Amino acid sequence: MTTVTIDREHLKKLYAEEEALFLKNHPKCKEAFEKAKNSLLDGVPMHWMKKWTGGHPLFVQQAKGGHFTDLDGHKYIDFCLGDTGSMTGHSPDAVVDFVSQQLRNGITYMLPNENAIWVGDELKKRFGLPYWQVAVSATDANRFTLRIARHITKRPKVLVFNYCYHGTVDEAFITLGEDGQPQCRSTNIGPQTNPVNTTKVVEFNDVEGLEKALADRDVAAVLCEPAMTNIGIVMPQPGFLEKLRELTTKYGTLLIIDETHTISAGSGGCTKEWNLKPDLFTIGKAIGSGVPTAVYGLSEEVANRLRSALNLEGIDVGGIGGTLAGNALSVAAMRATLEHILTPENYEYTIGLAKKFCEGVEQVIADYKLPWIVKRLGCRTEYWFRPAEPVNGGEAAEVCDFELDQYMHLYALNRGILMTPFHNMALICVNHTMEDVEVHTRVFRESVEALLNVNK
Ligand code: PMP
Repeated sequence: MTTVTIDREHLKKLYAEEEALFLKNHPKCKEAFEKAKNSLLDGVPMHWMKKWTGGHPLFVQQAKGGHFTDLDGHKYIDFCLGDTGSMTGHSPDAVVDFVSQQLRNGITYMLPNENAIWVGDELKKRFGLPYWQVAVSATDANRFTLRIARHITKRPKVLVFNYCYHGTVDEAFITLGEDGQPQCRSTNIGPQTNPVNTTKVVEFNDVEGLEKALADRDVAAVLCEPAMTNIGIVMPQPGFLEKLRELTTKYGTLLIIDETHTISAGSGGCTKEWNLKPDLFTIGKAIGSGVPTAVYGLSEEVANRLRSALNLEGIDVGGIGGTLAGNALSVAAMRATLEHILTPENYEYTIGLAKKFCEGVEQVIADYKLPWIVKRLGCRTEYWFRPAEPVNGGEAAEVCDFELDQYMHLYALNRGILMTPFHNMALICVNHTMEDVEVHTRVFRESVEALLNVNK
């Protein structure tokens, strides 16, 4: 098959045109951005928000369901959905109603209430682990499970996969260098210690490397996603997750599964879909429809070991917890989200639509013989500028094409579609429609035609 190559000069020119169009169409967002610079560092409340295409971020006026409107009055189909935080659709009515009641009845009191029991019971049913705790963010849930693992195994190290992302967890900012040796991730800001001292890193799907790293019996836990998502979707090869379970058990290492993104796979995440048996489990973001919250689950054995290794007097200054963790507002948001939004019926709809999304993109790729592929994990989809699936994070990182990503992103944005920056990821929520998907397919086709200079 003959394939196309991208003319880089043409790509630069197209990007400049898109940027000019963006600036022309967003004077109010631009004005807000300039005003914000007076008090917010570089004009944004959190520095990642600088990483949008177009010269400045959009400022949001209102968001509901699968759409939002910016200050300039443009309406967007939102396939980014707060990078999974709003995978439920923005402000679902059932969540808003329930959380509003809770807002009037106490937001936080450092005491449990009956909603927490409902949430615990539901999590137990969905994911299979018997005991649960609440944290404020997925990062925290991951940090806490790593602490628990080190505390009860009395082992110093943890293990992650190359190019993983588990939030701002210090131990996870490690990659394999070109020489195959572990090194601090080059983007790591002010590491408190070089993660090489705390962490082992191997490639996803590398059974041999994994066994070698675990065999020293100094690894407290493996922290992983069941399919990698943050360097693009990298699926486990057949048998890999079984091997991971077998080897962690063999060497006395605990297995922590982070389903913060992979909950796209279904109402019980990959843990339920693929019958995984983690020792510890974490999830944040969408579980509260975007209200900050997260949970972690513990197996019977881990719970027993933890109970006997904690002392009540010092429990509040042990490095696990947080004043606002388990607050009534977050717990109410989780109850309503689990009860009404992240339901099997809704997944059936969103996964069906995600398949349609992929079919549309695949058709364009086939029509123009592009050396690209589309990936999907449940209602999460993305297109990749490479001809074959990567097997691990290292391979996936090699083919990142930031220039092309930025162009595709901005082209879509200028035509009313927000994709997730900057890998071209789209999440489908229950409020999206076939029409939204068709708009994307059309715009995607047009962006490709502009890129290939196709005269129509
Ligand atoms: N786990 C995974 C798999 C994630 O992708 C992320 C964030 N993208 C986190 C944990 C951390 O989430 P948060 O930033 O909300 O703490």
